[in-house]
Amino acid sequence: MPGDYPVGRGRVSIEAAGIPIEGVSIGGHESFYKLHALRALLDIGRAPEDVLGFSTVCITHGHLDHAAGLAHFASRRLLGALPPPKVLVPAPAEGDFADWLSASERLEQVRYGLDLAGVEPGDRVSLRNDLELLVLPGRHRVATVGYLFIEIRHKLKEEFAGRPGEEIASLRSRGVEVLRREENPLLAYPGDCSVEIFEAAPQILQAKVLLLECSFLDPDDVERARTYQHIHLTDVIERAGEFRNEALVLTHFSLRYRPSEIREALRAIPEVLAPRVVPFLA
Ligand SMILES: [Zn+2]
Ligand SMILES: [Zn+2]
Repeated sequence: MPGDYPVGRGRVSIEAAGIPIEGVSIGGHESFYKLHALRALLDIGRAPEDVLGFSTVCITHGHLDHAAGLAHFASRRLLGALPPPKVLVPAPAEGDFADWLSASERLEQVRYGLDLAGVEPGDRVSLRNDLELLVLPGRHRVATVGYLFIEIRHKLKEEFAGRPGEEIASLRSRGVEVLRREENPLLAYPGDCSVEIFEAAPQILQAKVLLLECSFLDPDDVERARTYQHIHLTDVIERAGEFRNEALVLTHFSLRYRPSEIREALRAIPEVLAPRVVPFLA
């Protein structure tokens, strides 16, 4: 294993239904995903140079393969004189994240000024005029939330369709609401999760892209997946007909499998789903 990563398991750059996703994900070791188009970094298992520019970080849970880079990130942003980042964490874990960051500040004798926000399922965070983040329930061994990126569009209400521009303008000037709000779920990421996630957060099946962990693949690892509350490939295969996503990105594979073994195992996915599956591999 030259360098930090085994071949094919280091930096990954893919495009899923038109959305570029770059990062690293190895179950239990390190996960972060750069979503430039969606203005956010998902999880922060490490803080390499090219994630420092993200001013929004969405952390799903406190396992260090998803969170260990946070203090380093805060410190490096401060050193680079970048404005304080907004960091979302599950509300029940907020106190522990705050304690860790305070201890790091004492060690460094600095103030990061980081905007740490504990979030709960149902919370919404605006990222841009046309982009919102909805916090989803999580299902894992520790406090976990998921995230759903939603594109917001304002369209003319049907009753006003085809009317001349001046009439619409006149209606608007009189305070008539001529637009309706349309929400388009772009990308869902439930973080590490057990199979219960499909009942807890069924909207993940409707997003354009679903970034779903699939830590375990081998039939001998089903019990391991249940114990550690991760998805096993059989969970995906059993629900193959339920995924409405344009792209299903499978990620967070255990380091116990080589990339060739992962690709081979994914061949068991039924034809109804297989063409839409994108493995998060180099
Ligand atoms: Zn993990
Ligand atoms: Zn975890």
